[in-house]
Amino acid sequence: MFKDHRAPAPDPILGVMQAFAEDMRDGKIDLGVGVYRTADGRTPVMQAVKAAERALLESQETKGYVALSGDPAFHAAMRDLVLGGVVPSDRVAALATPGGTGAVRQAFELVRRVRPEAIVWTPSPTWPNHLAILDGLGMKRRSYRHYDAETGGLDREGMRADLAEVAAGDLVLLHGCCHNPTGADLAPDDWRDIALLLAERGAVPMVDLAYLGFGDGLEQDAAGLRLMAGALPEMLIAISGSKNFGLYRERVGLVLALCDGPGAAAAVRGTLAWLNRQSYAFPPDHGARVVTTILTDPALRALWEEELTGMRERIDGMRRGLADALREASGSDRFGHLAGHRGMFSLLPATPEQVETLRREHALYMIGDGRINVAGLTPETLAPAARAIATVLR
Ligand code: PMP
Repeated sequence: MFKDHRAPAPDPILGVMQAFAEDMRDGKIDLGVGVYRTADGRTPVMQAVKAAERALLESQETKGYVALSGDPAFHAAMRDLVLGGVVPSDRVAALATPGGTGAVRQAFELVRRVRPEAIVWTPSPTWPNHLAILDGLGMKRRSYRHYDAETGGLDREGMRADLAEVAAGDLVLLHGCCHNPTGADLAPDDWRDIALLLAERGAVPMVDLAYLGFGDGLEQDAAGLRLMAGALPEMLIAISGSKNFGLYRERVGLVLALCDGPGAAAAVRGTLAWLNRQSYAFPPDHGARVVTTILTDPALRALWEEELTGMRERIDGMRRGLADALREASGSDRFGHLAGHRGMFSLLPATPEQVETLRREHALYMIGDGRINVAGLTPETLAPAARAIATVLR
């Protein structure tokens, strides 16, 4: 069976991780993999998570199965965090999944099952796994312009022109905040415009929300998708708890399907549960329970929000620091747009060869398309990183 088998190309991000680990040079800088890091390079367990885990260790009496869709208390806590009450709960179907990746996959699976002919529109560029999952599922996809490499901001005209071709029943994927890989987010007016366009065309938005709280704050980062949720009859949301709760390996994820009415929501709930059942039956529970404990305990929630604010402020400080250091190192404003990006990522205008040169000659690691994770920077590495980038990206 496997004699002539060829594995798919390895994930380029994991390749960067491995090359960095094997690099023995002092002063190497890792702006590759998309995890949050402290100034001393750690990805620690949050204090709120530790406290919730301690409480669970004491109080949990069983590890028996929960439900195919996951814990209803987890659904409710996350729904309220993300939607803030803009959609009545009887219109919302929820499904706990293994991580945000699981949520993205099950949301696409739902669409494939309900409307196999739908075209899924993805922003260009997007998180590469969106495309890999869609291709793996054999779904039709098209891309729409999102990023303007000239300005380092949104390509509003291109986006509008491309989305004008969306047909009734198509699915349009949007990043809720902190766009991966560009850092270029939609402004409130963009959310409003796209909501209007999708309403006109009868298409459905799907929002991938992997970085809630990493942009401008919990409320601010959810504002765009709430606006859209309030304006349209249907919408899908794929949520990850990996970054904002630091629960990467516990695999915390959730699909929210906003439906036209309670009847449709009940049917979608059944289909979502069925999707979990025939994939892996019950979703992971520990991380979800930790999140629910934090969100429903006022003291733990306050602690979590404080820690999240600390992470966001560090990311933002490194982002502004890098923009300043690049201005100094390059003697120009050509990297000035970095300061306006949101979240951990920005896309540098680097060719694959320049990315390779940065690795080889400066021990500076980023993803092959020029994506950097600014959370990999520290006050000490800002200047050397900026000098390397300014030297190679002349
Ligand atoms: N969506 C986007 C845009 C992401 O960047 C990520 C994380 N890299 C995910 C979803 C999924 O994250 P996870 O499966 O680790 O929760």
